[in-house]
Amino acid sequence: MPVLLKLLSKLLPWLMAWFIGRSVLRFFITVVLLIIGVGYLLPEQFGLPVSNMRRNSYDQRSYWYYPWGPSVVHKGIDVFARIGTPVTSATGGVVIYTGELSMGGQTVMVLGPKWRVHYYAHLSSFSVERWEWVALGHQLGKVGDTGNAKGKPPHLHYTIFTPIPYVWQIDTKQHQWWLQPFFVDPTPGLNALLPKGPDRK
Ligand SMILES: [Zn+2]
Repeated sequence: MPVLLKLLSKLLPWLMAWFIGRSVLRFFITVVLLIIGVGYLLPEQFGLPVSNMRRNSYDQRSYWYYPWGPSVVHKGIDVFARIGTPVTSATGGVVIYTGELSMGGQTVMVLGPKWRVHYYAHLSSFSVERWEWVALGHQLGKVGDTGNAKGKPPHLHYTIFTPIPYVWQIDTKQHQWWLQPFFVDPTPGLNALLPKGPDRK
């Protein structure tokens, strides 16, 4: 957060200059930057994407796992659960996609704070509509085995995508490192919600 504030303090004089410039394009760019800034500063409350999931519902090494078939690396995590278990929105946001994808099967995408897109795949069914606003924990659908999860144990594939690149995440020793800035590892966030303990095996 201090890094962000530092960046903002550098950015604000520029924004002021733009406003004073009074050019339409500059005004437009300023508005876009402000919108991006507001989206970025929205607090991101994070919850569980599957009802009653536990720490052993997902593998700690699942994210960016290599090799991972045609995707090369696994850009998300798999949360294993019984078919029909509620899939719940891990953040508040707006549903920007519902539909059938060849790999993802029945899929829901939610645009949340920080312009992050949360991708929920292999659902057996979904229960939200495009452009619907959802709160944290709102049911999006049910766990299934659709798309390329057919014939595998049912699970939710959960990916967090960021269109604002986090270049500091690049580790050139990893496969497809050039894509790393555009994805966020959900594992630490989930681990924080599901502390390790004897009853949380
Ligand atoms: Zn997966």
